[in-house]
Amino acid sequence: MSISFENRVAIVTGAGGGLGRAYALELAARGAKVVINDFGGSRDGSGGSSEAAEKVVAEIREKGGHAIADGGNVTRFEDMQALVARTLAEFGRIDVLINNAGILRDKTFAKMSTEDFRAVVDVHLIGSANATKAVWEVMRAQGYGRILMTSSTSGVYGNFGQSNYGAAKAGLIGLMNVLHFEGARYGIKVNAVLPTAATRMTGDMMDEEMLRHLAPENVVPAALFLVGEEAPSRVALLAGAGTVARMAIVESEGVYLPAGRRTPEAVAEAFATISSLDGSIETEAGLAHVDRIIANARTAEAKG
Ligand code: NAD
Repeated sequence: MSISFENRVAIVTGAGGGLGRAYALELAARGAKVVINDFGGSRDGSGGSSEAAEKVVAEIREKGGHAIADGGNVTRFEDMQALVARTLAEFGRIDVLINNAGILRDKTFAKMSTEDFRAVVDVHLIGSANATKAVWEVMRAQGYGRILMTSSTSGVYGNFGQSNYGAAKAGLIGLMNVLHFEGARYGIKVNAVLPTAATRMTGDMMDEEMLRHLAPENVVPAALFLVGEEAPSRVALLAGAGTVARMAIVESEGVYLPAGRRTPEAVAEAFATISSLDGSIETEAGLAHVDRIIANARTAEAKG
Protein backbone atom coordinates (compact mmCIF):
# COMPACT_ATOMS: atom_id res chain seq x y z
CA MET A 1 0.00 0.00 0.00
CA SER A 2 1.42 3.40 -0.92
CA ILE A 3 0.07 6.64 0.46
CA SER A 4 -0.13 9.38 -2.15
CA PHE A 5 -1.24 12.99 -1.83
CA GLU A 6 -1.40 13.56 -5.60
CA ASN A 7 -4.17 16.10 -6.40
CA ARG A 8 -4.64 16.81 -2.69
CA VAL A 9 -4.33 20.23 -1.09
CA ALA A 10 -2.99 20.46 2.46
CA ILE A 11 -2.76 23.31 4.95
CA VAL A 12 -0.20 22.95 7.73
CA THR A 13 -0.25 25.60 10.47
CA GLY A 14 2.99 26.55 12.16
CA ALA A 15 4.92 24.92 9.30
CA GLY A 16 7.80 27.42 9.22
CA GLY A 17 10.00 25.09 11.27
CA GLY A 18 10.09 21.97 13.45
CA LEU A 19 7.43 19.33 12.95
CA GLY A 20 5.19 21.40 10.68
CA ARG A 21 8.02 21.90 8.20
CA ALA A 22 8.78 18.16 8.22
CA TYR A 23 5.11 17.31 7.55
CA ALA A 24 4.90 19.89 4.75
CA LEU A 25 8.05 18.66 2.99
CA GLU A 26 6.85 15.05 2.96
CA LEU A 27 3.30 15.99 1.91
CA ALA A 28 4.78 17.94 -1.02
CA ALA A 29 7.17 15.10 -1.88
CA ARG A 30 4.12 12.82 -2.09
CA GLY A 31 2.32 15.14 -4.49
CA ALA A 32 0.29 17.49 -2.29
CA LYS A 33 -0.02 21.18 -2.94
CA VAL A 34 0.82 22.66 0.43
CA VAL A 35 -0.05 25.89 2.19
CA ILE A 36 2.66 26.76 4.68
CA ASN A 37 1.13 28.83 7.44
CA ASP A 38 3.41 30.35 10.05
CA PHE A 39 3.28 33.73 11.72
CA GLY A 40 7.00 33.41 12.45
CA GLY A 41 6.97 34.34 16.12
CA SER A 42 9.36 33.36 18.89
CA ARG A 43 8.85 30.29 21.08
CA ASP A 44 6.65 32.20 23.55
CA GLY A 45 4.46 33.55 20.74
CA SER A 46 5.75 37.12 20.50
CA GLY A 47 6.78 38.94 17.32
CA GLY A 48 6.12 37.57 13.87
CA SER A 49 6.70 37.68 10.08
CA SER A 50 5.99 35.39 7.13
CA GLU A 51 9.72 34.81 6.51
CA ALA A 52 9.76 31.34 8.13
CA ALA A 53 6.87 30.17 5.95
CA GLU A 54 8.45 31.60 2.81
CA LYS A 55 11.70 29.69 3.43
CA VAL A 56 9.84 26.39 3.55
CA VAL A 57 7.90 27.30 0.40
CA ALA A 58 11.23 27.95 -1.35
CA GLU A 59 12.53 24.53 -0.21
CA ILE A 60 9.45 22.78 -1.63
CA ARG A 61 9.56 24.70 -4.91
CA GLU A 62 13.28 23.91 -5.35
CA LYS A 63 12.34 20.23 -5.32
CA GLY A 64 9.64 20.82 -7.94
CA GLY A 65 6.72 20.85 -5.50
CA HIS A 66 3.82 23.27 -5.17
CA ALA A 67 3.44 25.49 -2.12
CA ILE A 68 2.37 28.93 -1.00
CA ALA A 69 3.17 30.83 2.20
CA ASP A 70 0.71 32.33 4.63
CA GLY A 71 1.70 34.53 7.54
CA GLY A 72 -1.67 34.32 9.32
CA ASN A 73 -1.98 34.03 13.08
CA VAL A 74 -4.09 31.03 14.13
CA THR A 75 -5.49 32.94 17.10
CA ARG A 76 -7.28 35.30 14.69
CA PHE A 77 -10.28 33.71 13.01
CA GLU A 78 -10.20 36.38 10.25
CA ASP A 79 -6.64 35.26 9.42
CA MET A 80 -7.80 31.65 9.11
CA GLN A 81 -10.71 32.68 6.89
CA ALA A 82 -8.25 34.62 4.70
CA LEU A 83 -5.95 31.56 4.63
CA VAL A 84 -8.82 29.40 3.39
CA ALA A 85 -9.85 31.97 0.77
CA ARG A 86 -6.27 32.16 -0.54
CA THR A 87 -5.92 28.38 -0.60
CA LEU A 88 -9.13 28.01 -2.60
CA ALA A 89 -8.13 30.79 -4.99
CA GLU A 90 -4.73 29.18 -5.57
CA PHE A 91 -5.48 25.45 -5.44
CA GLY A 92 -9.30 25.08 -5.66
CA ARG A 93 -9.91 22.69 -2.73
CA ILE A 94 -8.73 21.74 0.78
CA ASP A 95 -8.28 18.07 1.63
CA VAL A 96 -6.00 18.14 4.65
CA LEU A 97 -5.59 20.44 7.63
CA ILE A 98 -2.79 19.79 10.10
CA ASN A 99 -3.26 21.92 13.21
CA ASN A 100 0.33 22.17 14.36
CA ALA A 101 1.07 25.79 15.36
CA GLY A 102 2.14 26.11 18.96
CA ILE A 103 3.90 28.12 21.64
CA LEU A 104 5.16 27.43 25.15
CA ARG A 105 5.13 29.53 28.31
CA ASP A 106 6.18 27.00 30.93
CA LYS A 107 5.95 27.96 34.61
CA THR A 108 4.56 26.36 37.73
CA PHE A 109 0.89 27.16 38.17
CA ALA A 110 1.80 29.18 41.27
CA LYS A 111 3.96 31.52 39.18
CA MET A 112 1.88 31.55 36.01
CA SER A 113 -0.13 34.65 35.16
CA THR A 114 -3.62 34.18 33.79
CA GLU A 115 -2.30 35.98 30.70
CA ASP A 116 0.30 33.21 30.14
CA PHE A 117 -2.38 30.59 30.69
CA ARG A 118 -4.73 32.22 28.20
CA ALA A 119 -2.05 32.86 25.54
CA VAL A 120 -1.11 29.18 25.34
CA VAL A 121 -4.71 27.96 25.29
CA ASP A 122 -5.42 30.59 22.65
CA VAL A 123 -2.78 29.33 20.20
CA HIS A 124 -3.19 25.57 20.64
CA LEU A 125 -6.86 25.07 21.39
CA ILE A 126 -8.62 28.16 20.04
CA GLY A 127 -6.14 28.38 17.14
CA SER A 128 -6.93 24.78 16.10
CA ALA A 129 -10.67 25.46 16.45
CA ASN A 130 -10.29 28.62 14.32
CA ALA A 131 -8.45 26.89 11.49
CA THR A 132 -10.79 23.88 11.66
CA LYS A 133 -13.88 26.09 11.62
CA ALA A 134 -12.50 27.96 8.61
CA VAL A 135 -12.04 24.73 6.56
CA TRP A 136 -15.10 22.88 7.90
CA GLU A 137 -17.69 24.10 5.38
CA VAL A 138 -15.30 23.54 2.48
CA MET A 139 -14.66 19.94 3.56
CA ARG A 140 -18.34 19.27 4.23
CA ALA A 141 -19.28 20.55 0.77
CA GLN A 142 -16.54 18.42 -0.85
CA GLY A 143 -17.58 15.34 1.14
CA TYR A 144 -13.91 14.81 2.00
CA GLY A 145 -11.58 16.07 4.68
CA ARG A 146 -8.71 14.96 6.88
CA ILE A 147 -7.99 16.98 10.02
CA LEU A 148 -5.12 16.32 12.40
CA MET A 149 -4.95 17.82 15.90
CA THR A 150 -1.59 18.04 17.63
CA SER A 151 -1.97 16.94 21.22
CA SER A 152 0.81 16.05 23.64
CA THR A 153 1.79 13.65 26.38
CA SER A 154 1.64 16.75 28.62
CA GLY A 155 -2.09 16.92 27.93
CA VAL A 156 -2.98 13.30 28.51
CA TYR A 157 -0.39 12.28 31.13
CA GLY A 158 0.79 15.64 32.54
CA ASN A 159 4.22 17.25 32.84
CA PHE A 160 5.40 19.55 35.63
CA GLY A 161 5.20 23.26 34.77
CA GLN A 162 2.84 22.96 31.79
CA SER A 163 -0.65 23.56 33.19
CA ASN A 164 -1.56 25.96 30.35
CA TYR A 165 -0.11 23.70 27.66
CA GLY A 166 -1.46 20.47 29.17
CA ALA A 167 -4.97 21.91 29.45
CA ALA A 168 -4.91 23.09 25.83
CA LYS A 169 -3.51 19.79 24.54
CA ALA A 170 -6.10 17.72 26.43
CA GLY A 171 -8.76 20.03 25.00
CA LEU A 172 -7.68 19.03 21.51
CA ILE A 173 -8.48 15.39 22.28
CA GLY A 174 -11.96 16.56 23.26
CA LEU A 175 -12.29 18.55 20.04
CA MET A 176 -11.21 15.50 18.01
CA ASN A 177 -13.72 13.24 19.78
CA VAL A 178 -16.67 15.50 18.98
CA LEU A 179 -15.67 16.48 15.43
CA HIS A 180 -15.20 12.78 14.65
CA PHE A 181 -18.96 12.36 15.06
CA GLU A 182 -19.96 15.59 13.36
CA GLY A 183 -17.67 15.05 10.37
CA ALA A 184 -18.35 11.34 9.78
CA ARG A 185 -21.30 11.71 7.43
CA TYR A 186 -19.36 14.21 5.30
CA GLY A 187 -16.31 12.03 4.80
CA ILE A 188 -14.28 14.10 7.29
CA LYS A 189 -11.89 12.12 9.47
CA VAL A 190 -10.39 13.71 12.56
CA ASN A 191 -7.34 12.32 14.34
CA ALA A 192 -4.57 13.42 16.68
CA VAL A 193 -0.83 13.03 16.90
CA LEU A 194 1.10 13.20 20.17
CA PRO A 195 4.66 13.83 19.00
CA THR A 196 8.01 13.77 20.71
CA ALA A 197 10.71 15.51 18.70
CA ALA A 198 13.76 17.70 19.01
CA THR A 199 12.65 21.15 17.87
CA ARG A 200 13.18 24.62 19.22
CA MET A 201 10.23 23.86 21.52
CA THR A 202 12.00 20.98 23.25
CA GLY A 203 15.69 21.60 22.48
CA ASP A 204 16.52 22.77 25.99
CA MET A 205 14.50 20.09 27.81
CA MET A 206 16.49 17.06 26.66
CA ASP A 207 20.12 15.96 26.62
CA GLU A 208 22.26 15.28 23.52
CA GLU A 209 21.75 11.53 23.54
CA MET A 210 17.95 11.87 23.71
CA LEU A 211 17.87 14.54 21.01
CA ARG A 212 19.77 12.22 18.66
CA HIS A 213 16.79 9.86 18.51
CA LEU A 214 14.23 12.60 18.16
CA ALA A 215 14.46 13.99 14.62
CA PRO A 216 11.10 15.56 13.65
CA GLU A 217 11.13 13.29 10.57
CA ASN A 218 10.43 10.37 12.92
CA VAL A 219 6.96 11.79 13.65
CA VAL A 220 6.06 12.27 9.97
CA PRO A 221 4.97 8.67 9.17
CA ALA A 222 2.25 8.62 11.86
CA ALA A 223 1.03 12.12 11.00
CA LEU A 224 0.81 11.43 7.26
CA PHE A 225 -0.92 8.09 7.81
CA LEU A 226 -3.56 9.94 9.86
CA VAL A 227 -4.30 12.43 7.07
CA GLY A 228 -4.13 9.94 4.17
CA GLU A 229 -7.04 8.67 2.11
CA GLU A 230 -7.29 5.44 4.13
CA ALA A 231 -6.98 7.16 7.49
CA PRO A 232 -8.99 5.91 10.45
CA SER A 233 -10.93 8.49 12.46
CA ARG A 234 -10.67 9.52 16.13
CA VAL A 235 -7.32 7.84 16.51
CA ALA A 236 -4.58 9.41 18.63
CA LEU A 237 -1.08 8.20 17.81
CA LEU A 238 1.98 8.80 19.96
CA ALA A 239 4.99 9.11 17.69
CA GLY A 240 8.70 9.75 18.11
CA ALA A 241 12.16 8.17 18.05
CA GLY A 242 10.85 5.36 15.87
CA THR A 243 8.00 4.26 18.14
CA VAL A 244 4.36 4.63 17.11
CA ALA A 245 1.67 3.74 19.66
CA ARG A 246 -2.01 4.46 20.18
CA MET A 247 -3.16 6.62 23.09
CA ALA A 248 -6.61 5.69 24.33
CA ILE A 249 -9.02 6.82 27.02
CA VAL A 250 -10.61 3.93 28.88
CA GLU A 251 -12.96 3.58 31.81
CA SER A 252 -12.86 0.91 34.46
CA GLU A 253 -15.72 -1.49 34.76
CA GLY A 254 -16.44 0.11 38.13
CA VAL A 255 -18.81 -1.03 40.82
CA TYR A 256 -22.56 -0.71 41.17
CA LEU A 257 -23.59 0.73 44.51
CA PRO A 258 -27.12 -0.30 45.39
CA ALA A 259 -29.56 2.33 46.67
CA GLY A 260 -28.93 2.81 50.37
CA ARG A 261 -25.17 2.19 49.91
CA ARG A 262 -24.50 5.32 47.84
CA THR A 263 -22.20 7.05 50.30
CA PRO A 264 -18.67 8.46 50.09
CA GLU A 265 -17.65 5.74 52.52
CA ALA A 266 -18.89 3.06 50.13
CA VAL A 267 -16.80 4.65 47.36
CA ALA A 268 -13.76 4.65 49.66
CA GLU A 269 -14.30 0.99 50.50
CA ALA A 270 -14.63 -0.01 46.85
CA PHE A 271 -11.92 2.36 45.60
CA ALA A 272 -9.42 -0.39 44.71
CA THR A 273 -12.01 -2.15 42.54
CA ILE A 274 -13.25 1.14 41.06
CA SER A 275 -9.67 2.06 40.12
CA SER A 276 -8.70 -1.29 38.68
CA LEU A 277 -8.34 -1.26 34.92
CA ASP A 278 -8.72 -5.05 34.63
CA GLY A 279 -11.49 -5.47 32.06
CA SER A 280 -11.48 -1.75 31.24
CA ILE A 281 -13.61 -0.47 28.40
CA GLU A 282 -12.96 1.97 25.56
CA THR A 283 -16.31 3.75 25.34
CA GLU A 284 -17.68 4.56 21.87
CA ALA A 285 -19.40 7.85 22.80
CA GLY A 286 -20.57 9.88 25.78
CA LEU A 287 -24.08 8.49 25.37
CA ALA A 288 -22.73 4.94 25.31
CA HIS A 289 -21.49 5.50 28.87
CA VAL A 290 -24.98 6.66 29.87
CA ASP A 291 -26.45 3.49 28.30
CA ARG A 292 -24.03 1.34 30.29
CA ILE A 293 -24.79 2.85 33.69
CA ILE A 294 -28.54 2.77 33.07
CA ALA A 295 -28.24 -0.89 32.03
CA ASN A 296 -26.32 -1.62 35.26
CA ALA A 297 -29.08 0.05 37.30
CA ARG A 298 -31.85 -1.81 35.45
CA THR A 299 -30.11 -5.17 35.87
CA ALA A 300 -29.63 -4.55 39.59
CA GLU A 301 -33.25 -3.45 40.00
CA ALA A 302 -34.57 -6.48 38.10
CA LYS A 303 -32.56 -8.75 40.43
CA GLY A 304 -34.25 -6.93 43.33
P1 NAD B 1 8.18 24.80 16.80
O1 NAD B 1 8.26 25.93 17.76
O2 NAD B 1 9.38 24.45 16.00
O3 NAD B 1 6.96 25.01 15.80
C1 NAD B 1 5.80 25.71 16.10
C2 NAD B 1 5.54 26.68 14.99
O4 NAD B 1 4.26 27.30 15.20
C3 NAD B 1 6.58 27.81 14.92
O5 NAD B 1 7.16 27.83 13.63
C4 NAD B 1 5.78 29.07 15.22
O6 NAD B 1 6.21 30.21 14.51
C5 NAD B 1 4.37 28.65 14.82
N1 NAD B 1 3.35 29.44 15.51
C6 NAD B 1 3.29 29.73 16.83
N2 NAD B 1 2.21 30.48 17.10
C7 NAD B 1 1.56 30.66 15.92
C8 NAD B 1 0.38 31.35 15.58
N3 NAD B 1 -0.34 32.01 16.50
N4 NAD B 1 -0.02 31.33 14.29
C9 NAD B 1 0.71 30.67 13.35
N5 NAD B 1 1.85 30.02 13.63
C10 NAD B 1 2.27 30.00 14.90
O7 NAD B 1 7.73 23.54 17.66
P2 NAD B 1 7.37 22.02 17.26
O8 NAD B 1 7.98 21.17 18.29
O9 NAD B 1 7.61 21.74 15.84
O10 NAD B 1 5.80 22.01 17.57
C11 NAD B 1 4.80 21.72 16.63
C12 NAD B 1 3.57 21.22 17.38
O11 NAD B 1 3.85 19.96 18.01
C13 NAD B 1 3.11 22.16 18.49
O12 NAD B 1 1.69 22.17 18.53
C14 NAD B 1 3.65 21.50 19.74
O13 NAD B 1 2.92 21.83 20.89
C15 NAD B 1 3.48 20.03 19.37
N6 NAD B 1 4.29 19.13 20.17
C16 NAD B 1 5.63 19.09 20.01
C17 NAD B 1 6.34 18.19 20.78
C18 NAD B 1 7.81 18.04 20.61
O14 NAD B 1 8.37 17.14 21.27
N7 NAD B 1 8.45 18.84 19.77
C19 NAD B 1 5.70 17.39 21.73
C20 NAD B 1 4.32 17.46 21.86
C21 NAD B 1 3.63 18.34 21.06
